[in-house]
Amino acid sequence: MSVRVGIPRALLYYYYFPLWKEFLEQLGAEVVVSAPTTKGILTRGVEQCVDEACLPIKLAFGHVQNLADKGVDVIFLPRMVSVAQREYICPKFLGFPDMVRQNIKNLPVVMDTSFNLRKKQSDVTDFVQRVGAYFGKGIFKSRLAFGVALRKQKQYQDLLEQGLFPEEAMAILEGKEPKSKNINTDLTIAVIGHPYNIYDPFISMNLLNRLNKMGVKVLTADHLTEQKIEQGAAKLPKKLFWTLSKKITGGALHFHEKSTVDGIIHVAAFACGPDSMTGELIERFIRREGRMPFLNINLDEHTGEAGIITRVEAFLDMVRWRRAVG
Ligand code: SF4
Repeated sequence: MSVRVGIPRALLYYYYFPLWKEFLEQLGAEVVVSAPTTKGILTRGVEQCVDEACLPIKLAFGHVQNLADKGVDVIFLPRMVSVAQREYICPKFLGFPDMVRQNIKNLPVVMDTSFNLRKKQSDVTDFVQRVGAYFGKGIFKSRLAFGVALRKQKQYQDLLEQGLFPEEAMAILEGKEPKSKNINTDLTIAVIGHPYNIYDPFISMNLLNRLNKMGVKVLTADHLTEQKIEQGAAKLPKKLFWTLSKKITGGALHFHEKSTVDGIIHVAAFACGPDSMTGELIERFIRREGRMPFLNINLDEHTGEAGIITRVEAFLDMVRWRRAVG
């Protein structure tokens, strides 16, 4: 019987799920994903996590608990240190497996193999071999499995760059028909933020779909190629060594410079150190130029939906008015 491996629908799920799923399945595992976020999942996460943590980490606790409730044999929580040379991921990712072990009782096995490409890309081999060995596979079969998974991940990234959102791209990879949106839009807005904040419909209060329904075409930094992100980030006087912050800032500055959008909405999580810095950087840069409407939204577990909708509606009215008066 296959080992049932759980992957939380949280944190880097929206970036790496196709890669992890394919890799684990090629190794013979059965992959189980936690349920879509609900109030109940968030509440359990908030109860079990330390108060000082950011909203996405609290939510990820709830998803880990959901996987434990589903009776999986293993919870896959790779210790994400770095996904690019000379760059880092937020330290909360690094400590997440330990936080979970300390705070949630009666968990199944937590697989926390380190993923660290800071020195060189080829260091991924160590991760591949360790995970493969857990499933009884040797070096050759493990590398083969990861090679197949990398090709799946490339297809996924190509679909994102074509303008799809993660759930749509994942559905296509599963062989499902893409839903036709048929939206009449008169505005294009960039929504900039961490994937776990903007793509989780519960946490973002369904922001992307709401915008679509309000006549807005939405673009995110994930629709841009790496080259465009780098060009945007190069406008800063110093290199950002946090990969996700670089993507957010580079994306925002690219959209601003090329004027391919009518406005930018930055979505940040309360208690997020990197977000407070990137939000400030982007806002200062845009306000200095003074030519693009900008809205900053902060999310926490107490954020009221009505307040966010009112602010977004007022922002869109202002963008439309600005455009009308030229
Ligand atoms: S980048 Fe911010 S939101 Fe993401 S895990 Fe780190 S502190 Fe939390």
